[in-house]
Amino acid sequence: MRRAALFGGTFDPVHHAHLALAQAALAALALDEVRWVPAGRPWQKTRAVTPAVHREAMLRLALAGEPRFVLDRIEIERAGPSCTLDTVIALRAAFPDTDWVLLLGQDQYAGLHTWRGWRELLGLVTLAVARRPAAPQTVNAEVARSGHRVVPLPMLDISATDIRGRVAAGADIATLVPPEVAGYIARHGLYRSPAGS
Ligand code: ATP
Repeated sequence: MRRAALFGGTFDPVHHAHLALAQAALAALALDEVRWVPAGRPWQKTRAVTPAVHREAMLRLALAGEPRFVLDRIEIERAGPSCTLDTVIALRAAFPDTDWVLLLGQDQYAGLHTWRGWRELLGLVTLAVARRPAAPQTVNAEVARSGHRVVPLPMLDISATDIRGRVAAGADIATLVPPEVAGYIARHGLYRSPAGS
């Protein structure tokens, strides 16, 4: 069996903590692949999310050079709000020889019991969780019982929200995202307005 991780997110924009998490998971969990799945319409986000074409382009720039990083447009192509369970079901059908790990930061792990179809999801994947500053430590008992692998990641105080805020304020983001992503944000004038962030 191949072993691959599904790494979902809004990636608005992709940043160094995402990349460090995925790299740590590749090594620690002996993965053949990390499959990055940008959300089409994230149903739990209330703010206006940057059009998928930009989020996808930034991901392509950030993932280049690591052949085990694969970008999957499945949630962008699917109509309606993104649902991880639907994605896992589709990936299992498309790749029957693959065991799937679901990569998460602690904030998402702590909220997993609010996802649509979370019980079924737990039966289909192995969870792999990375710690994250300021994330809730309390986890739903049933989610906790299903167990998880630990992705060995140092605390990285980076968030896309903070990056959008910095760009809107005219501050530097060079230490937070790859240079190609910073260049793309500047060229396309992304995140300049604080509205919706
Ligand atoms: P936003 O600030 O817009 O909510 P974000 O920085 O949390 O964005 P997402 O695209 O929502 O980024 O996150 C995708 C995945 O990466 C989630 O599982 C999230 O927990 C994880 N993640 C993001 N940043 C970190 C971090 N600094 N440390 C650990 N995990 C992280």
